[in-house]
Amino acid sequence: MEVKPARRRVLLVPVPAQGHISSMMQLAKTLHSKGFSITIAQTKFNYFSSPSDDFADFQFVTIPESLPETDFENLRPGLFFLKLNKECRVSFKDCLSQLLLQQSNEKISCVIYDEFMYFAKAAAKEFKLPNVIFSTMNATTFVCRTVFEKLNANNVLAPLKDSKGKENELVPGLHPLRYKDLPTSKFAPLEKILKLYRHTVDIQAVSSVIINTTSCLESSSLSCLQQQLDIPIYPIGPLHMVASAPTSLLEENKSCIEWLNKQKRDSVIFVSLGSLALMETNEVMEMASGLDSSNQHFLWVIKPGSIRGSEWMESLPEEFSRMVSGRGYVVKWAPQKEVLAHPAVGGFWSHCGWNSTLESIGEGVPVICRPFSTDQKVNARYLDCVWRTGIQVEGELDRGEVERAVKRLMVGEEGEEMRKRAVCLKEKLRASVRDGGSSHNSLHKFVQFMKSL
Ligand code: UDP
Repeated sequence: MEVKPARRRVLLVPVPAQGHISSMMQLAKTLHSKGFSITIAQTKFNYFSSPSDDFADFQFVTIPESLPETDFENLRPGLFFLKLNKECRVSFKDCLSQLLLQQSNEKISCVIYDEFMYFAKAAAKEFKLPNVIFSTMNATTFVCRTVFEKLNANNVLAPLKDSKGKENELVPGLHPLRYKDLPTSKFAPLEKILKLYRHTVDIQAVSSVIINTTSCLESSSLSCLQQQLDIPIYPIGPLHMVASAPTSLLEENKSCIEWLNKQKRDSVIFVSLGSLALMETNEVMEMASGLDSSNQHFLWVIKPGSIRGSEWMESLPEEFSRMVSGRGYVVKWAPQKEVLAHPAVGGFWSHCGWNSTLESIGEGVPVICRPFSTDQKVNARYLDCVWRTGIQVEGELDRGEVERAVKRLMVGEEGEEMRKRAVCLKEKLRASVRDGGSSHNSLHKFVQFMKSL
């Protein structure tokens, strides 16, 4: 009787946040389709479990950490990641040792961890398992992180501490990024961000890096990164175009698709600020007023907890309902990829998280960029100045600025030109994940590499 060779099992460690979970699960699906068995190790909060059959073959395990759930909200990503890594170091080692004891003929051959879950590396190293970093953000942000230390040593990051006057200057070697576009966070002191980044770019005991990007978007950053890191780098994205599966932590309100079905082609602006953004009441009101006076139809995702001091929208003045009830449609969470693919959607007001950025380009939808923090600022700058499929709205948000930006994008020639470029870029992305495309080839090489471990 022929004995089938045992499948290799890969252990994946996602960050417990929507954007990171989505791309990690897309990676998991991709590897599963290439013949790997999958184990997902997650923290207790923001735990992803799918009711669908999409992940039926996957093993899900919990890292027994004991962080209070409120830390995620209160500390915001930067400081939270530092605490999470400290907390999970020992508990992940226990979890991994249990898994290694249980395994029968399917041996865990490798640990792939989200770049912000670097606690996984030490444990894997101890059990002599190869490590792979998965960067769910783009290559340019990775490059920024690798040079942060040097910039800081030369005191070049000083403008960030005392940004008056210098924030609009270009950072040497990182064209077209300005100091204010660097992936700093307003929620964490620079020293803490430096500490975090030092860990994320530490490639000691790491076999390779995979990145959810593609060379047609970031060829120079990818070359730069390859020069800096002495290990293989595999740009294999956009993964949502390679393996799609439902990965939402929140319930999607599909009624907005019926509403979109009633709207004209390219007539709706979709407003969505991702899973982590937090807005002040006055900013929401300026947005609402600007959208109202732009005379465009709009679909707006207001996630519960995304307005400071409010569970959902109950703290907003009454005027808000009047502003959104005419041409607007508000939901708590939307099927975003489906929305962006809908013919009625002609523009996207986005915080420019990397998934949202890839999804907008992947559907040929131009963007109004309103980043909040870290890598979103890099993505916004690239949408505006490199790919030229976006307009960045900077400074304090006021209703006049919102109205002007929406009109620039939705009505007139400038928006039309951006839409054409976006459609062109969409074709390039599609080509990169097809047979013979750069991401497709890169994925093939990565799979060969994994099989050689
Ligand atoms: N998303 C969604 N429905 C919404 C808003 C967002 O499905 O109403 C998804 C979106 O498609 C994307 C992810 O949530 O895949 C957000 O990730 P991103 O990296 O853009 O931003 P983050 O949430 O990490 O800031």
